[in-house]
Amino acid sequence: MNAEIITIGSELLLGQIVNTNARFISEQLADMGINVYYHTAVGDNPNRLKAALEIAEKRANIIILTGGLGPTKDDLTKETLSLHLNRELVIDENAFRSIKLYFETTKRKMTENNRKQAYTLKGSHVLRNDHGMAPGMILTVNKHIYMLLPGPPKEMEPMFLTYGKEALFNQTKAKDKIISRVLRFFGIGEALLETKIEDLIDGQSNPTIAPLASDGEVTLRLTAKHHHLQTAQALLNEMETKILERVGTYFYGYDETSLMNELVKMIKEKNLTIACAESLTGGMFQQEITSIPGAGNILKGGIVSYTNEAKEKLLQVKKQTIDVYGVVSEQCAAEMAENVRTLLNADIGISFTGVAGPDTLEGKPVGTVFIGIALKGKPTSVELLHLGVNRDTNRFRSVKYGCYFLMEKLKK
Ligand code: ATP
Repeated sequence: MNAEIITIGSELLLGQIVNTNARFISEQLADMGINVYYHTAVGDNPNRLKAALEIAEKRANIIILTGGLGPTKDDLTKETLSLHLNRELVIDENAFRSIKLYFETTKRKMTENNRKQAYTLKGSHVLRNDHGMAPGMILTVNKHIYMLLPGPPKEMEPMFLTYGKEALFNQTKAKDKIISRVLRFFGIGEALLETKIEDLIDGQSNPTIAPLASDGEVTLRLTAKHHHLQTAQALLNEMETKILERVGTYFYGYDETSLMNELVKMIKEKNLTIACAESLTGGMFQQEITSIPGAGNILKGGIVSYTNEAKEKLLQVKKQTIDVYGVVSEQCAAEMAENVRTLLNADIGISFTGVAGPDTLEGKPVGTVFIGIALKGKPTSVELLHLGVNRDTNRFRSVKYGCYFLMEKLKK
């Protein structure tokens, strides 16, 4: 089986948006063992879409289209396919009901255009849209599988993961089940991680192991194939155990989680509270923690103490500490963490102070970062990092390291 992805929308061709849909679907299809040979992007123009479909049909069995399912005049994907395949459009009652319900509950007036969104190609399997109005659909016609998905990634991605993947799998009538699992690592570089498991990567075809590095993290995507789901699961478990025996100390979570997500979970499970004192990160740690639902139960608050004055006045860091050791120092980080913890009456205090760059500070090189962690009833610890020269990278990596060090400490 091989697939072509046709993304529809003039904004793509005008350079106004990045084609993240093609990237996402390609990644998912690779997981399923389906080869993607072509990406096509086409504007909101029925003639050019028809031409793109005719080309795709010559070179792919599976054609996945995104965009153009909306209510406006330029949303013409379904209509073009309906003419092209000679399949009429019929109203999908479930989709129509949920569109009507949306307008009733939001007390907005429904227009005829919105009704148009509930039309689907006759005979297709409808994919529910849990995050918007236009349903997706999948159907097989003349040995080709067509899948239509909405354009907005926040609708398309969950639709594909929740309903689309399985429906596509069923339409391909493949005997094997394909499942995958992502293992996430932090604190180890891609090269070192790969070296440690090189023989496993080279020697394995089921499951396959695909490493990917981004934002200071490394992930390994394990994909197993078998006609018994349980055997496929067992293959993944076995490989995961082998990998974690070697690099388990750097492992922090599965699939779509993040370091902050795992940290919040851990703090909640232990029934603790946290307070933050941030200098070089300027509130990034707090911004991230508050983006996780339920952070209100654990985060007491924090202080962005950027200047020496703020460190002294708001955080009560001793003037002598700053004069003798400087603000970028182990001593200052320790006081920041301890003081914010006691000031806000929290169980955990975490602090960030360092040189984000581009200029050096107090004679300390760019990338020098101290992270202080004060836990109630335990000695305060300070970690020193030597990061790179990029200001933004230094700031967000500091936040990630903060999560990582704190998790390590809470595990003990
Ligand atoms: P809507 O109901 O919002 O009109 P639609 O299914 O008709 O949904 P489009 O109108 O084609 O989709 O696109 C809506 C928005 O979705 C675009 O403005 C863009 O922000 C996003 N989008 C569309 N296609 C892509 C893509 N290939 N990659 C990333 N984002 C996309």
